[in-house]
Amino acid sequence: MTLTYEDVLGRYEPVFGLETHVELGTESKMFCGCSTRFGAEPNTQTCPVCLGLPGAMPAVNARAVEDTIKIGLALNCSIAPWCRFARKNYFYPDMPKNFQTSQYDEPLCVDGYLDVDVDGQNYRVGIERVHMEEDTGKNTHVGGATGRIHGAEYSLVDYNRAGIPLIEIVTRPVPGTGARAPEVARAYVTALRDILRTLGVSDVRMEQGSLRCDVNTSLSPVGSGAWGTRTETKNVNSLRSVERAVRSEMLRQAELLDAGERVRQETRHFSEVSGDTRPGRSKEEATDYRYFPEPDLVPVAPDPAWVEQIRAALPELPAARRARLRESLGVSAEDMVQMSNAGVVDLVGETVEAGAPVDEARNWWLGYLTQKANEREVDAADLGVAPGDVARLVALVADGTLSVALARQAVDAVLETGHDVDAVVAERGLRKVSDTSALERAADEAIAADPDAADKVRGGKAAAVGALVGAVMKATRGQADAAAVKQILLDKLGGGV
Ligand SMILES: [Zn+2]
Repeated sequence: MTLTYEDVLGRYEPVFGLETHVELGTESKMFCGCSTRFGAEPNTQTCPVCLGLPGAMPAVNARAVEDTIKIGLALNCSIAPWCRFARKNYFYPDMPKNFQTSQYDEPLCVDGYLDVDVDGQNYRVGIERVHMEEDTGKNTHVGGATGRIHGAEYSLVDYNRAGIPLIEIVTRPVPGTGARAPEVARAYVTALRDILRTLGVSDVRMEQGSLRCDVNTSLSPVGSGAWGTRTETKNVNSLRSVERAVRSEMLRQAELLDAGERVRQETRHFSEVSGDTRPGRSKEEATDYRYFPEPDLVPVAPDPAWVEQIRAALPELPAARRARLRESLGVSAEDMVQMSNAGVVDLVGETVEAGAPVDEARNWWLGYLTQKANEREVDAADLGVAPGDVARLVALVADGTLSVALARQAVDAVLETGHDVDAVVAERGLRKVSDTSALERAADEAIAADPDAADKVRGGKAAAVGALVGAVMKATRGQADAAAVKQILLDKLGGGV
């Protein structure tokens, strides 16, 4: 019998932790002047420093340090007055220096937290550290069925990504979330992504790998007080996958523990296709990276006055913005939870700022637009309809230019074409027909085309008018007001009403 999620929760307590890597959006790399632009021809954005050629001397990208301090401050961390880079020694073909320049026991930011909200309940996720390092190159394994190195005929390496500033944000283990562990993990990554986007330090595109998560999960018997052995699921590349990875590891580990087996401490890979994790390399014998302070770089010692300047210049962060919006929008706590769960709080706020009444903005984002986002399996924010478009639609409905049905057609057209609302309204001739003489003409034509229905209405069967209304709506391509059409038809046919 397969274990259910409820079975797991009855016997085990989950603890998760996340290590999130963020590629910064700096113009140049971490230790050299090479461009970081995504999608260039392989190996065209390299130099002796990021290729690790002998004698090349690195220099720290000041903007990357500033961005890291911004991230640390936004996550309530202390900023170290003095810290260093360290060499993390290991061999892998995508890392031409044979070591990664990282930070080890002296990270730039320590001891912070991020509060996340799931269904109106707050969970505080402790942040252990935020440190700077560099990205590796990218291997492409050619000829195998899976794209993995096993079974491949040969491999190609692209060093364009080698040396791009990479920030690692490490949480403390998060206990006490119980059944909600998968959702809290997802909510944490969502909140972190929103903060990074607000700070403007990264484009945080999970599908392009500029934000990637390793998810640690362990289970311990309820009430045991001890923590279980954790596994590390690598490179989980969507918000949905973060949630699925935690859940599937909880189920897998519970089956092992139920059978009296032990959980191996290992790296696992999440499969988007099967929704479960597969074993990678075992970590039971910890790799010795022989860390030592990087001799080619001077220590980083940010002036406290500079740090305070950066703090003062931070933009309004998402949580504060939401609190302010809630206040100014005057929405209920329940509405706020619903909007928050749908990921539309900021969108509603911006739609209101663009001139729409709160209720209209809320209804559009929670209704038709969330439905469209779900159909396309994207977040509402990535749907391609701007808050300004929604405010414009609300205005067009309010002044009688569009019916709600036509406004929805306009949304569909915006999604299809990428044009703005005014453009699609003009292109498609979307306009409620309120010209009475045009409606009268259409009504006469419908009556002439369907004399049976007309006779029934004349004979007192008012319900038969529906077919005629339908014909008029069809003739006017849905642009007439159905109630007005019905009234015109009944007036003409004198159907005893
Ligand atoms: Zn370079």
